Amino acid sequence: MTDSRPAPGTTSATPARVAEITAALVAVRTRIARACTAAGRNPDSVTLVAVTKTRPAADVRVLVDLGITDVGENRDSEAAAKADELRGAPGVAPRWHLVGQLQTNKVRSVLGWADVVHSVDRDRLVLALDRGAAATGRVLDCFVQVDLREPAAIAADSGRGGVSPEDLARLCDAVAAAGALRLRGLMAVAPLGASAGPAFERLAGLSERIRADHPAADALSAGMSGDLEAALAAGATHVRLGSALLGSRPLLH
Ligand SMILES: *Cc1c(COP(=O)(O)O)cnc(C)c1O
Repeated sequence: MTDSRPAPGTTSATPARVAEITAALVAVRTRIARACTAAGRNPDSVTLVAVTKTRPAADVRVLVDLGITDVGENRDSEAAAKADELRGAPGVAPRWHLVGQLQTNKVRSVLGWADVVHSVDRDRLVLALDRGAAATGRVLDCFVQVDLREPAAIAADSGRGGVSPEDLARLCDAVAAAGALRLRGLMAVAPLGASAGPAFERLAGLSERIRADHPAADALSAGMSGDLEAALAAGATHVRLGSALLGSRPLLH
């Protein structure tokens, strides 16, 4: 059998797929612009992180050709393979963001492709990321993920990702004190079944408190395809959009 794998960076999307993504990106940019206007904000203050999980590297290329500079993934192995595939492609060098939960045993691998980690939520991870980044001579941009669920829900199930609001300030101090990490700000996902607006307003309040101690940590990663307007109204600087750009994914993602 011959090796049918394409050479690095050579896979490309069909013209129909390019047209589909182009139209979706126009619609998304319009939503962002409208939400910014409503909030009295400049759309240039918003970074669109295109979440490409479950989608092929060819889609990432299309997005980059359309001007996307930031790409998000939630699984190390999938992202590493995709970033690898695109490494050989001329002109395709987006900033890669890890937006999903991170296990400490994956830190080394993640540092091989990620420029930004949005899911820092515990001390052990701070330690591992700091050591790993220091070993590669880099400074890694980090968002601390906050769990915005009600305290009772957090107590009942602590494994969903995100530090509790009570432990937030201390964890931010730890990131800021780590020599190879840069604290960019906070990240959150709106809790399931709750209204996104109040949750993001709460996040904005937490962000203000953190900025009192860490003025440079002024970024706020919030808002997905279903709730980007509420996030932008609350001051999000990074929206993480998947399905609005690339279509709905199979369940479990
Ligand atoms: C998948 C994912 C997104 C994008 O979600 P959509 O609803 O498809 O826009 C954003 N943030 C995180 C953490 C995700 O896992």
